Amino acid sequence: MNWNIEKLESNYDQYYKEKSISGLYIRQSDILPLIKNLSPKFEIEKIGESFEKREIYKIKIGTGKKKILIWSQMHGNESTGTKALFDFFHFLENPNGFEKERDLILENCEISIIPMLNPDGAEVYTRVNRQNIDLNRDAVNLKGVESKILRKELEDFNPKFCFNLHDQRTIFNVEGTENPATISFLAPSINEERTLTDGRKETMSVISKMNQFLQKLIPNQVGRYTDEFYPTATGDNFQKLGHNTILIEAGHFPEDYEREKTRKYNFYSLLIGCFDIANSKIFNNYEEYFSIPNNDDRFVDIIYENAKLEDDNCDIIKNIGIIFKYEIKNSELIKYSTIVKSSEISSKLAHKRVNMEGKILFLTKK
Ligand SMILES: [Zn+2]
Repeated sequence: MNWNIEKLESNYDQYYKEKSISGLYIRQSDILPLIKNLSPKFEIEKIGESFEKREIYKIKIGTGKKKILIWSQMHGNESTGTKALFDFFHFLENPNGFEKERDLILENCEISIIPMLNPDGAEVYTRVNRQNIDLNRDAVNLKGVESKILRKELEDFNPKFCFNLHDQRTIFNVEGTENPATISFLAPSINEERTLTDGRKETMSVISKMNQFLQKLIPNQVGRYTDEFYPTATGDNFQKLGHNTILIEAGHFPEDYEREKTRKYNFYSLLIGCFDIANSKIFNNYEEYFSIPNNDDRFVDIIYENAKLEDDNCDIIKNIGIIFKYEIKNSELIKYSTIVKSSEISSKLAHKRVNMEGKILFLTKK
């Protein structure tokens, strides 16, 4: 299947992108009106409430036999997948020239989507939920209110494939390159031996198709996460239970700290992934998965060269690397800088370099 990429690209801004949500800080109040405004094509159901009693919805579309479960923002501060989902809804509503592809998806698949599984974490921009639980490490104990909601959906719906949508930090590059890992994938393991089960092969096969597509748009900016087995992780457990789970990690694109470029590649990943699931009878293209380079973590956000640090009491001039972090103050997202250990700087890549020519560097600190 050859997609007319030029047409997709020109459609994206005009027809697909949900323009009312942008940036990093996406809360439940941003998406509730969008959910309520979805056309009757979509079946909307409240499936529970978060720890702080925020409503959690699932949105269903499609009449096919192949079931796909998608959720985003189980880590509250990882919103790119949520933005991409609303772009995907627009594609399904009005594909503008891609009706054949859309219909093929909806005739072959039934898709159940939970945008923002962790609305409490989203509200205060934390990874964890309000019980201080990392929902992506709670698949065995199911202590988190939201983990139970997701598990119930998994059991009731019994999907063949799942998409678990996350964001990764700006530190990741594609191994062997100086490119950021704009999108990274993982087909999670089901045991410490990382056994290549039929299910994992199927997962890898779909990822290979998504990667093929992305390489045309962002060559050498796609990475692969380590498949080390995490016994309590959601993906590893869902895969073990027989639901092929594709992890998508949205990452950095040059100059795109708001993740507005990355959201498009996240949307394309979902589109191509769902299309491949709809269109394929067998999923045997798994070997290519191993040709995707690993993620490496060589980036810092900025290296200030020849700088003095304001709180150093001597006059040392050196290179200073910083990484941005974020927190909520008075309901606003504040970005601040953290300094990377200076011994590591020489081996680092930087998204930006600034020559301070011996001047003092003043940083926004927490
Ligand atoms: Zn995450």
